[in-house]
Amino acid sequence: MLDETSIKELSEKHYNGTLVSIEQTHESLALFRVKPDFPIPDYKSGQYTTLGLGYWEPRHEDAVPEKELNDKKIRRLVRRAYSVSHPVVNSDGELFKPEKLDFLEFYIVLVIGGEGQPAPGLTPRLFLKNEGDRINVGQKFTGEYTLNCMDDIRERDGSLVVFGGTGTGEGPHNRMIWELLSTGYKGRIASVNVVRYKKDLAYEAIYRELEKKYPNLTYHTLTTRESDTLHNKVYVQDYIESGQFEEKIGRKMDPSDTHIFLCGNPAMLGIPKVRGGEKIWPEGKMGVIQIMENRGFTMDYSRTKGNIHYEKYW
Ligand SMILES: Cc1cc2nc3c(=O)[nH]c(=O)nc-3n(C[C@H](O)[C@H](O)[C@H](O)COP(=O)(O)OP(=O)(O)OC[C@H]3O[C@@H](n4cnc5c(N)ncnc54)[C@H](O)[C@@H]3O)c2cc1C
Repeated sequence: MLDETSIKELSEKHYNGTLVSIEQTHESLALFRVKPDFPIPDYKSGQYTTLGLGYWEPRHEDAVPEKELNDKKIRRLVRRAYSVSHPVVNSDGELFKPEKLDFLEFYIVLVIGGEGQPAPGLTPRLFLKNEGDRINVGQKFTGEYTLNCMDDIRERDGSLVVFGGTGTGEGPHNRMIWELLSTGYKGRIASVNVVRYKKDLAYEAIYRELEKKYPNLTYHTLTTRESDTLHNKVYVQDYIESGQFEEKIGRKMDPSDTHIFLCGNPAMLGIPKVRGGEKIWPEGKMGVIQIMENRGFTMDYSRTKGNIHYEKYW
């Protein structure tokens, strides 16, 4: 335990942002809005930065306990990567004007860990924070998971961009969809989100309104733990393979004019190991990448500029 003076000194030294708003969807899911002390740099939709809190901060009591922290470690920051999300619309339901945003929004779930899993460092501390509290924000915004990947179809009428997210994997897609709508993208946009319970869909109301205004946008939700889906789980994989998704959007996903962005749980992605050009797919249920490669799509990796792009959260 550190004394109050040390904590004050460390906080002043390391914290460079303020949590200006915390909108709790429920006890373990929230939208954190952070105003950095530094000017927000120009970053691309889909990129990430980091958030950090001192190891000296208290942790959520439900989280798997950490090993005792030595005197050196307790003075450090625990930092994690977070995709920058976006509120999409203002309080009048209109798309946010870019210059009106002086904060960064992050969509974050509380991880408490379980048997055999490592003790989570950041979120058990973050979820004890209140509005007005200070935090560390990374000054580097980075990542290749951006709309630049779809430059070849961006100006093409009738093209299609599909976003698939699990849980908070929807975060980067909010900024990407906001940008596509704000810049008058003429193709179709479909956002598919799989969560455990309906209550985990923090942005759904916004998208239901947007669907009415933008006929080229559709928002699809799947739950895996609601009583009506408990014995009939539908994952993004099933939704695509069964043909339900294409039936809903009324067209096929054609590799010549479609890009797919996938973010979140590694099992949904199913990223292969690539050895000597050969792809070794993970065992078990097929991930979306493999399903779509079997249908003529190519994943984006290394120097291969494909049409399936992904961001893995863990
Ligand atoms: C590029 C990138 C962007 C990310 N953006 C986001 C984001 O926008 N929102 C967000 O909530 N998370 C995001 N993450 C995950 C985030 O960095 C943290 O790993 C997560 O918030 C847990 O942090 P922690 O310190 O509490 O636990 P950690 O110490 O990071 O993780 C402990 C263990 O929990 C598991 N785990 C991590 N995240 C989850 C999860 N979401 N659900 C279930 N198990 C998990 C992992 O197995 C991990 O080993 C992102 C990760 C990367 C790499």
